[in-house]
Amino acid sequence: MAKRDYYEILGVDKSASAAEIKKAYRKMAIKYHPDKNPDDKDAEAKFKEAAEAYEVLSDADKKARYDQFGHQAFEGAGGFGGGGMNMDDIFSQFGDIFGGAFGGGGFSGFGGGFGGQRRVKGSNLRIRVSLSLEEVANGIEKKIKVKRKIQAPGTTYKTCGTCNGSGQVTRVTNTILGRMQTASACPTCGGAGQSIDKKPSDADAQGLKVQEETVSVKIPAGVVDGMQLKVTGKGNEAPGNGISGDLLVVIEEKEHDTLKREGDNLHYDLYVSLPDAVLGTSKEIDTVTGKVRIKIEPGVQSGKILRLRGKGIPSINGYGSGDLLVHVNVWTPKTLNKQQKEFFESMRNDEHFSPKPESTDKSFFEKVKDMFS
Ligand SMILES: [Zn+2]
Repeated sequence: MAKRDYYEILGVDKSASAAEIKKAYRKMAIKYHPDKNPDDKDAEAKFKEAAEAYEVLSDADKKARYDQFGHQAFEGAGGFGGGGMNMDDIFSQFGDIFGGAFGGGGFSGFGGGFGGQRRVKGSNLRIRVSLSLEEVANGIEKKIKVKRKIQAPGTTYKTCGTCNGSGQVTRVTNTILGRMQTASACPTCGGAGQSIDKKPSDADAQGLKVQEETVSVKIPAGVVDGMQLKVTGKGNEAPGNGISGDLLVVIEEKEHDTLKREGDNLHYDLYVSLPDAVLGTSKEIDTVTGKVRIKIEPGVQSGKILRLRGKGIPSINGYGSGDLLVHVNVWTPKTLNKQQKEFFESMRNDEHFSPKPESTDKSFFEKVKDMFS
């Protein structure tokens, strides 16, 4: 469709002054304003056409280019080649044409602007849950007592009288353009579109009351201290047709008597006596799935780490489990009786007791290096 001449659109001739162009555009804008011509596509097209004409003719530089080259002056980048001006552009012009009152204001009827009724969301609740290491390792379903706000039975709602249920209020102002409308959230109902009709005496201003409920929370194996699990919809309820908030469960890990957690691995300090280290033995140790008996070979060195694969904490992501690392500590007595003293004295110069580290008897630092490689 060929574009009409901008002067023709505004009904002025080429010698018109800036003031005359402005006056002509005001006339067009009032005549074809969408608020005065609802659902009239032809009026909307004329309204946009006039705005585009004014956009060019009100700008000395653009007007000069238009006078010289016609519509070709604005083809391509930065021109109106596409769909012409959008409504936001047009209304932003109005500050200039009609004074500050309409600059960038929201108009009803087009361009979206307001989403209408809002769904109010209840607030979230946060609760701490303390777990033993065994519970962390195996996962558990916890029944948690929660004091949450619920809609008090007997509360009834009515359509908000201020906004008639739309959730927004429209302010109508008489202006040079005719009746102009601006929309904003309803101050009475906060946008929900309804207000309380009747409520029982034990309900608060929003028609809610506190009730203790038992919420069942499935805690997966491998959770970490400080982690937060979300139980959707188990927070405080919202008034009316709103949606409930969430229950946030914060994980707290209790310290274990003998097992120390490091990521998904567990550490256990095992103390063996000198005779046990020399002669070998078997020892019962704690794990997160109960006690297990492990074998200590004769001649075990203090500082040796026994790795029990998969006996640690399951990965929260579901990829296998960590290990249980048993640190062997040979317990050396501080005091000896006469007989014991004589025995060790007699062994002091025995070649058999002098240290001869083998390559398998790695130093502590080498072992730590191995663990992390
Ligand atoms: Zn309202």
